[in-house]
Amino acid sequence: MTKKVIFVGGTSYSGSTFFHLTLANDPAGFGAGEIRHLFRPTKERFVRGTWVCGCGDPACTLWERVKQRGEDNLYDSIFELNPEVEFIVDASKNIVWVDEQSERLARKGYDVRHIMIWKTLPEFAHSLQKRNRLQDGAELGSWPRYHKLYYSFIDQWRAVKYGHYTHDQETTLRAACKQLEIPFFEGKERFWEKRHHVLGGNLSSRIHLYAKDSDKYQDVRRRAEGTRELGAAESHHRRVYYEEPNTAALQEHITRLRRECPEIDQIEAMLLAHDIAAPTPGRDWPELQLSDAEMRMRQLRQYTKDQFGRIRYALRGSRARRPEPQQARN
Ligand SMILES: [Zn+2]
Repeated sequence: MTKKVIFVGGTSYSGSTFFHLTLANDPAGFGAGEIRHLFRPTKERFVRGTWVCGCGDPACTLWERVKQRGEDNLYDSIFELNPEVEFIVDASKNIVWVDEQSERLARKGYDVRHIMIWKTLPEFAHSLQKRNRLQDGAELGSWPRYHKLYYSFIDQWRAVKYGHYTHDQETTLRAACKQLEIPFFEGKERFWEKRHHVLGGNLSSRIHLYAKDSDKYQDVRRRAEGTRELGAAESHHRRVYYEEPNTAALQEHITRLRRECPEIDQIEAMLLAHDIAAPTPGRDWPELQLSDAEMRMRQLRQYTKDQFGRIRYALRGSRARRPEPQQARN
């Protein structure tokens, strides 16, 4: 069987971490989390000691070994180090990364699949509001931006509507597995029954990996202290849940965004047309497609950001190891 890599896309708070772990819950599956950050850290927390493997074993060296073998061999290394694995699920949401890696994997003969999980704009606004991130409106703009980018960059992908997933998890999961050509089985949604070497992902997804009476559970709680990151993950431990957005309270923000971005309805129609249960969609939304120049610009910006992060965090790492920082600079 051809080894497979599945990329799970989605905006922040779309449920992508949760969903990717569910897909990876299979004896032959491997949920990698946001592995992009292993090679291209963009934030301090990705190089901190607390950014550890989700398997819970402090002696786990899997990611160290993968890192040593280099970014070009990332997926090959995971397959080689875990011979039972037939498919990897990557939850790195960055579209330029997904595009780049997909090309590289296809060249190497892997079977590459793309699936995206999405919330409606009011649902997304609600998620931001719960975490106090709706105020300036800037983050709300990532909803049209992300979905247009995804549409422009990614070929052949299918979508899972978050609301469908929470209302009928089994049917949706079954349809997703069928699309991705991976096995579905009774109990697949109980992803915590498998040990995942998962990297990154938000704390509200990670907490479901651990039993309530475990040290790891308490550790996640400690790390989320003073933030709103856990949301309702504790009261809904290990359950997918749907919260009806209070549209009246969000209306002002949504109206403003609609004025700035008149394509909101087309984006939603485009996402629905890509649904896993719908027939194969065509490329029927030329107004959502970025021009070649815009796409190149996006790649270039990402490249610059990645290079900057690499230099910045590599320096930080080497400084921490060297006793005399003065000499290290020369
Ligand atoms: Zn591990």
